[in-house]
Amino acid sequence: MSHPAARRTKIIATLGPASTSEDVLREMIRAGVDVVRMNMSHGSIEDHAKRVDLVRRLADEAKRFVAILVDLQGPKIRVSRFKNKSVTLVEGASFALDAGLGKEDGDDTQVGIDYKELPGDVRSGDILLLDDGRIVLKVDSVNGARIDTTVVAGGALSNNKGINRQGGGLSAKAITDKDKQDIKTAAQLEADFVAMSFPRSADDIDECRSLLLEAGSRAGVVAKVERVEALQNLDEIIRASDAVMVARGDLGVEIGDAELPAVQKHMIAQARHLDRGVIVATQMMESMIDSPIPTRAEVFDVANAVLDGTDAVMLSAETAVGKNPPKVIEAMARVCLGAESQARSKLSRHRMDDKFKNVEEGIAMASMYLANHMPIKAIISLTESGATPIWMSRIRSGIPIFAVSRRLSTCRRMALYRGVFPHLFDYNKSAPDEVNRAVINYLRDHHWLDDGDMVILTKGDVIGEGGGTNVLKVLKVGEVLKTGDR
Ligand code: PGA
Ligand code: MN
Repeated sequence: MSHPAARRTKIIATLGPASTSEDVLREMIRAGVDVVRMNMSHGSIEDHAKRVDLVRRLADEAKRFVAILVDLQGPKIRVSRFKNKSVTLVEGASFALDAGLGKEDGDDTQVGIDYKELPGDVRSGDILLLDDGRIVLKVDSVNGARIDTTVVAGGALSNNKGINRQGGGLSAKAITDKDKQDIKTAAQLEADFVAMSFPRSADDIDECRSLLLEAGSRAGVVAKVERVEALQNLDEIIRASDAVMVARGDLGVEIGDAELPAVQKHMIAQARHLDRGVIVATQMMESMIDSPIPTRAEVFDVANAVLDGTDAVMLSAETAVGKNPPKVIEAMARVCLGAESQARSKLSRHRMDDKFKNVEEGIAMASMYLANHMPIKAIISLTESGATPIWMSRIRSGIPIFAVSRRLSTCRRMALYRGVFPHLFDYNKSAPDEVNRAVINYLRDHHWLDDGDMVILTKGDVIGEGGGTNVLKVLKVGEVLKTGDR
């Protein structure tokens, strides 16, 4: 393939104070961001709306498709805020979590909590982990709305950091009133994906999806797997969502960090097997919040996720509050490309023992089998909804999948999936027997293909209607393609 930017694994970057200026965002997009994440746990709706507008404009300028992912806060139990934004907790000191304290009144002896039922859910002896486990508190006693604790592991604690109980089981409804408001905002912002925090079951995902539909949004739903209950219901949660996130921050606190690697590998394999997307998240390049280069361990972490077959790797604080967000994206892109170049990441068993559910899946699988066993340069999938290229991308391959759609929303959504390169092109403007040539010439003229390349093209009989892919053709770029087909 003649185009240089052929990274298959997608990069998600969380936006925050460090990634608000036009210059930084432009550089991040240039460095290869595929999806931006708006974290609704932080920042005002106005901030998020401004960033969305800017990202859309800059992506247009750069002629790239960047999806917007709105990440709902969910029932995450968090400390409220501190008078001075942050305090330092010292080992052995007393510290209280007080549901009765004012929202902004935290200091180094106590802080408020937004989830008022928390004192009813904990008892003396419980271990509470704050800020993804960095701070450890032991509960001494619960007195009405106030939880008195002793600091077991101290450090800096800042506004709105999360609280978990070791072993999980804190009860809280999955969709809060704030989430319902934010779902409406996501619809207004025309978000491409909405991530749901702390779902427990497929019902939670279904509820999120119907609230989105009610608000007029067809955004894809991402299930953040970050509690013990979600792992117990993993398959049904995967099936109910468009993609799942290995939310290693909260999940690691609940199940223990030693369990995480095996769970991550299982989740990646299972999501792909069930035809859904998968995102690996949290602390992937944590040291780059301050440092200009990642640690070797971080390089291996990102590379291992790529080798296991993840669709996307995610950056959180690294790009939201870090010193140099574009540099983090560059490093991540470099490491992804390096890992992808290893032959192991391209092997596939092609679902040899499976039965396919329908014609579209059959065409998608046949395309990948052919592509992996012939000198095919690219797969071109004419798609309305994106379903066929997503199926294709569940099969390991080093061959690019060009998802050609006349729908902008489909192109943006495709930006999440591994090996799928979206192209906005209205093939309906060509006469039916000219479509193949028009699409292939378009890709060649944009330097994605060269004359003489052998390609696979899939489409439906009735161009322009979703769910109808039933044609698979092998064609050569530059040859006369007026074959009278439709
Ligand atoms: P968060 O989710 O960053 O919203 O907490 C990801 C995680 O828990 O890893
Ligand atoms: Mn989380």
